Amino acid sequence: MITLESVGKVIKGDSVLEDISFDIHPKELVCITGPSGSGKSTILHLLIGAEEATSGKIIIDGVELRSLPPTALQLFRRRVGVVFQDYKLLWNQTVAENVAFPLEVCGIPQKMISKRVEAVLSDLGLLRKAKTMTSALSAGEKARTAIARAIVHNPMILLADEPTGNLDAEESAMMINLLQLINKNGTTVVLATHDMSIVDQLQTRTLVLNNGKLVLDSSDGQINTVEKEFSKEDRRIPLEKASLDTEGGKRIKIVATQS
Ligand code: ADP
Ligand code: MG
Repeated sequence: MITLESVGKVIKGDSVLEDISFDIHPKELVCITGPSGSGKSTILHLLIGAEEATSGKIIIDGVELRSLPPTALQLFRRRVGVVFQDYKLLWNQTVAENVAFPLEVCGIPQKMISKRVEAVLSDLGLLRKAKTMTSALSAGEKARTAIARAIVHNPMILLADEPTGNLDAEESAMMINLLQLINKNGTTVVLATHDMSIVDQLQTRTLVLNNGKLVLDSSDGQINTVEKEFSKEDRRIPLEKASLDTEGGKRIKIVATQS
């Protein structure tokens, strides 16, 4: 369904992705993880054709993205749903208007749009919020609205970039359950997150990036842990970087030594 063949991406002279190859099969749920700056978002940008690979090939549903003329690329994008980290909702519009938007772009008749929007809002427990401005929603409701908008047109692929970044533990677990449910209903789901607790919760195939390289492709999301000792006073290692090793895609467990 999604194939990357030796993909490289250079941005402003910097190599951001290097020699990335993987296959994602139809109906798979795949996590992409790695420290901040490792290239997760860049991969998602390439998959929606928002950016072009500098080298290598990206083939989605049998079509090489680079070969698509702009109009065909637009049609392709309609088959992909995206949840952005900051959700990119239209904040001065209602929940229903936000969710209707992808269908309006596709030129679907208004009557069908209303029915479909109502069904999706009902599925996501947002029906009561249909006429609420998205700016007035709670964090969890914003996240669910972003999901509703991403799946309202029944995409074959759902891409989610750090969808739990702004959520507390309970809302975050709910978000992950939703993504699992959408996947069970037949959508291929690719989830980028630096949060290892999400990887642990999902127990699904996980691609680990580091410095723009694919360092591990774990079929069950089990990532080996190496323990490293640091004194409590040693604050040189930022926690986010410490969650994954710089080599081999191993997780580092910080163990405080007695001092
Ligand atoms: P992640 O999502 O894993 O945090 P990104 O894919 O956003 O990582 O970024 C990977 C690297 O590419 C980072 O070093 C980032 O600074 C760089 N990068 C991404 N987009 C741009 C851009 N538009 N201009 C300059 N550098 C960029
Ligand atoms: Mg990112």
